[in-house]
Amino acid sequence: QQNAKESLYLVSEYANEYFQKILHKTDQGKAIGLSYFKERGFTEETIKKFQLGYALDEWQAFTDDALGKGYKLEFLEQTGLTIVKDQKRFDRFKGRVMFPIHSMSGRILGFGGRILTNDKKAAKYLNSPESEIYHKSKVLYGLYFAKQTIAKEDNCFLVEGYTDVIQFYQTGVKNVVSSSGTALTSDQIRLINRLTNNITVLFDGDAAGIRASIRGIDLILEQGMNVKVCTFPDGEDPDSFAKSNTLEELTAYLDENAKDFIQFKASLLVKEAKNDPIKKAETIREIVNSIAKIPDAIKREIYIQECASIMDISENVLFSTLAQISKKEY
Ligand code: ATP
Ligand code: MN
Ligand code: MN
Ligand code: MN
Repeated sequence: QQNAKESLYLVSEYANEYFQKILHKTDQGKAIGLSYFKERGFTEETIKKFQLGYALDEWQAFTDDALGKGYKLEFLEQTGLTIVKDQKRFDRFKGRVMFPIHSMSGRILGFGGRILTNDKKAAKYLNSPESEIYHKSKVLYGLYFAKQTIAKEDNCFLVEGYTDVIQFYQTGVKNVVSSSGTALTSDQIRLINRLTNNITVLFDGDAAGIRASIRGIDLILEQGMNVKVCTFPDGEDPDSFAKSNTLEELTAYLDENAKDFIQFKASLLVKEAKNDPIKKAETIREIVNSIAKIPDAIKREIYIQECASIMDISENVLFSTLAQISKKEY
């Protein structure tokens, strides 16, 4: 059992070396992969730090290489790096730039691979499947590189994607992690909670995404953490914003625009409900739902007062709604 797991780590770590070698040492890797990363503004140092790589645009280049080096097909298949179908073997990642996903201690758990074309039919990102060593709900991309700075700064920035993490890190904001496209889980939040009590969630600048992400944030409140949120100008995400700004500009933007989550949510919901009384009633319930997740009674009381003023409703109504919700939950 332990040996089988170790074999998966060794295969993944070999793949990580291989994809980096392809990126830096082959014509295709340099012409396509490396120039792609450079165009995105990543420096040589950053590319090496995050161990970025490239998978050749061939059917089984990696699989053949790894088998030739003595790695067993069984383990190649279990990591998802090789797909076996009708006795034939295919590389999962083909013609993609590669982002290795590290454990807290720096071992390789899996990969994300991005296509380089704007082919709308292919998924933009392809990820390793769940395996004995890769449990997606328990991993945060970038945490291996960010953990010390998260503790030191006593705050963690949470972004959506791989490139947001890397661009922030390169710009100098190193306390940043990503759940990489999947919904945030309690296990992931616990990983951050061990290092700091403060999270700042950074949204991509599109309204639909913000609405979808808001639900997951209640899970952070449940763990008693302080949550701020920050949006970016329309069409921008943390990556593009960091790319076109200096560290000073970026930190100034974050300082000025990070808002307390409960206040942000209350203001957003009020705006959405406008003068529709039914909708307003729903939004009040929704905001009280979030407040009910906060374990600390003093904080709950302060938020009730804040939201009463933001939503222009009496504190009494909010307190009795809170009491109803709490009764149902416990
Ligand atoms: P890029 O800047 O390279 O276009 P992004 O990180 O801004 O990428 P988003 O579309 O904002 O991409 O998605 C955020 C994250 O969600 C990605 O980094 C990736 O981890 C995940 N993701 C996006 N598209 C897919 C997909 N088709 N399949 C699986 N995961 C995806
Ligand atoms: Mn997005
Ligand atoms: Mn994005
Ligand atoms: Mn992006």
